[in-house]
Amino acid sequence: MRSFVPNEGYSEVAGIPALQGRGAALVNGGAGFLGSHLCERLLERGHHVICLDNFSTGRRSNVQHLLSNARFHVIDHDVRQPFDIEASLIFNFASPASPPDYQRDPVGTLLTNVLGAVNTLDCARKTGATVVQSSTSEVYGDPNQNPQHESYCGNVNQIGPRGCYDEGKRSAETLFFDYHRTYGVDIKVGRIFNTYGPRMRQDDGRVVSNFIVQALRNDDLTIYGDGEQTRSFCYVDDLVEGFLRFSAAGSACIGPINLGNPAEITVRRLAEIVLELTNSHSRIVHLPRVTDDPRQRRPDISRAMADLGWLPLVGLETGLARTVDYFDALLSSEKKVEVV
Ligand code: NAD
Ligand code: UDP
Repeated sequence: MRSFVPNEGYSEVAGIPALQGRGAALVNGGAGFLGSHLCERLLERGHHVICLDNFSTGRRSNVQHLLSNARFHVIDHDVRQPFDIEASLIFNFASPASPPDYQRDPVGTLLTNVLGAVNTLDCARKTGATVVQSSTSEVYGDPNQNPQHESYCGNVNQIGPRGCYDEGKRSAETLFFDYHRTYGVDIKVGRIFNTYGPRMRQDDGRVVSNFIVQALRNDDLTIYGDGEQTRSFCYVDDLVEGFLRFSAAGSACIGPINLGNPAEITVRRLAEIVLELTNSHSRIVHLPRVTDDPRQRRPDISRAMADLGWLPLVGLETGLARTVDYFDALLSSEKKVEVV
């Protein structure tokens, strides 16, 4: 394992003794979009935070601003390999998440989710840590029920191009519940619905980042299919708040629990809102529908409301406006670098 020690650059070290122990939170995938926001919030709450990441879809720049904090530490490690880190709380967020990312290396995606779950659970089993899994609405596949309640078992095509991710996450859930029943590991499984916000990669291929970047560049907005498919978009701060509440809930609260914003819209309407917010001259164009693309998705969050007292507070236009500002600043800074 390699460790990125704050203010000392990159170095090979065997462990991180100074930061280990109770009160420490380990965030697998902490350099990614969601993981970096989670690291930030955990530090604000006074935790020691260990970010473990192999930087495959995450970026060092996502956590650069945290490196000056003596309670923050980064380890370069792949969750497919075993690890021993003593923390009282583990968040397993390590997995590619956008369809182009997870389909680029499907075998690697499946193994990251299965072996990553095994290695994370083995670590928790040794240390007695509470371990929180970032599962996904993709466990419901192309759902025949709308909204999706946690009791719905889903409609996944296990041999299609999304199967590597969907079945990887489903297997990970099985492992979490079996480690709980068999070994008494303290688990929590949260199913995340489409979440967006600052620090998404501009080239991650997800619909929110694609549309905003296309609009800011006055390029065509690419709708896959007829645009009548629906999603329910949650702003990142709301999602992280949900996970923090979940992690602090009693050990009887293990989930699975849906975390997402139930405001459902079509992809076509999303494109129109992005055009309005950016005053863009872009046109909307239609490309072929992608294989096994879920036609509808909306979380039933009654369990999260009852068990965690949680519901999303940031409306879509507000959250999108913040995300537009983020990408606008990012693209402007890139333009300046080009000029120099
Ligand atoms: P992301 O790609 O930005 O972050 C994933 C992080 O995991 C990256 O930093 C990446 O480098 C790291 N990673 C990937 N494979 C790894 C491996 N083998 N070993 C160590 N690190 C590895 O994606 P995100 O949107 O931040 O998603 C985070 C988690 O939330 C993922 O598990 C994803 O499945 C889940 N999720 C996200 C959404 C969403 O809308 N953002 C929805 C459902 C589920
Ligand atoms: N999508 C689209 N244009 C894009 C990117 C995505 O129309 O440029 C569609 C995609 O086909 C899907 C929806 O937007 O119906 C959400 O896609 P995303 O990849 O963001 O998330 P997921 O499919 O995992 O929900």
